[in-house]
Amino acid sequence: MAERDVLVVGAGVFGAAVACELARHGWGPRVRVLERLQPAAGATARAAALVTAVRDDPGQIALARQTLATIATLQAEGEALGWHASGALHVAPAALRPLLEARAAIGAANGVASRWLPHEAALALAPWLDPRAFEHALFFPDDGWLDPHSLASAVLRVAVRHGVRIETAEVRRLVVDGSRVRGVETADGFVGADMVVLATGAWANVLSAPAGLPLPLAPVRSQYWISTPAPCFPREGAIVLMPAIRAYARPELGGLLFGVREPRPAVVDARRLPADLGGFAFEPEDAEGWQTLAAAAEDLGRHLPVLPTLGIAHAVSGPSAYTPDGQLVVGTAPGLAGLVVAAGCNGSGITFSGGVGRLVGELVRGAAPFVDPAPAAPGRLGDFDPQAPDFLAACAAARSRKTSG
Ligand SMILES: Cc1cc2nc3c(=O)[nH]c(=O)nc-3n(C[C@H](O)[C@H](O)[C@H](O)COP(=O)(O)OP(=O)(O)OC[C@H]3O[C@@H](n4cnc5c(N)ncnc54)[C@H](O)[C@@H]3O)c2cc1C
Repeated sequence: MAERDVLVVGAGVFGAAVACELARHGWGPRVRVLERLQPAAGATARAAALVTAVRDDPGQIALARQTLATIATLQAEGEALGWHASGALHVAPAALRPLLEARAAIGAANGVASRWLPHEAALALAPWLDPRAFEHALFFPDDGWLDPHSLASAVLRVAVRHGVRIETAEVRRLVVDGSRVRGVETADGFVGADMVVLATGAWANVLSAPAGLPLPLAPVRSQYWISTPAPCFPREGAIVLMPAIRAYARPELGGLLFGVREPRPAVVDARRLPADLGGFAFEPEDAEGWQTLAAAAEDLGRHLPVLPTLGIAHAVSGPSAYTPDGQLVVGTAPGLAGLVVAAGCNGSGITFSGGVGRLVGELVRGAAPFVDPAPAAPGRLGDFDPQAPDFLAACAAARSRKTSG
């Protein structure tokens, strides 16, 4: 296919990954990235940044494995990502043994190694765990975590080295001519392109819905806390996933970073999400999520008996673009030629970023996609109201069901 001028809107980790992928295939001089704030200013910089490959869906596993490969490539090129090859430990009571077995099986069938660990070995990786809280421990040695801002910056550096331009501009609307997107409108006027990649994260519907493309995603609050330091949190300890209580944890700053998926996560209409998230709270009356933490304290305390003695040093939250079916929102747009969407992270966009970058790059270049994009089709819900309360509730429910990394 002939090269085209490509506009990537949004310089979070998805937009950065798409630009980098195109640049590595020689398209750099034809690619412009438009970002209204700084790169990674949205969800990306707020992520806990677990990179965990095992998922319920083989396509998503392939995306995550591509991210692990991308991380290895960037490190080999000398980029510092703050990568911790910690592995991820899934711990569960006897009743959830089938869930862990299913994870081991789908991982093995899709190139993700794991092994069962005896209690002592699991506790060596996470000395803070109460041994009575779990019967079974399954370890995925190739998972890890990193600094999400460093990842996005490194990916953009590679893109820029290969000719991509990054510009500060707010896109006000997609410019549609009949059934084709011709470019975008910014404060400085019209910017034309053969292809627009919409990578505006939780804000995606603000631009797509007025253009006639409601996307099946909504901004749902993700949040976690970081405890004060304690000797039981080794800096090179493992990521721990606790599916029985829908919680996760990893070491951070000598303390423990931990999060829970609450029964009723906060969700907003994307039009209410400010461009600058500094100072924004989904629930202003409980900006730091103390109510969520209090509701989960009993469950967390069973796994983390030291919890009542810890202080909370940081509370972090931000918007993730959740979808009712847990699939991404990636691909070409029905009835809107010239538009490709890269969104719908379901709180795992760092994990999927390398794969989404590759897949969207292939779609833009007209190359054969390495993963079937059909389950992530942007138009899969047809015409609907992405601001309707029941739709927003369905997106929030997807977060409360989540037990993966
Ligand atoms: C608290 C928290 C914890 C998380 N933990 C993890 C984790 O452990 N592992 C994991 O894999 N993922 C995690 N995530 C999810 C991850 O952060 C996201 O999936 C990922 O960052 C999404 O990247 P994105 O590029 O789609 O969106 P964003 O990073 O939000 O980027 C979108 C960009 O578009 C820009 N933009 C929006 N509208 C416009 C416009 N009109 N014009 C120009 N620019 C525009 C924004 O300024 C922003 O920079 C977490 C998220 C949060 C909030």
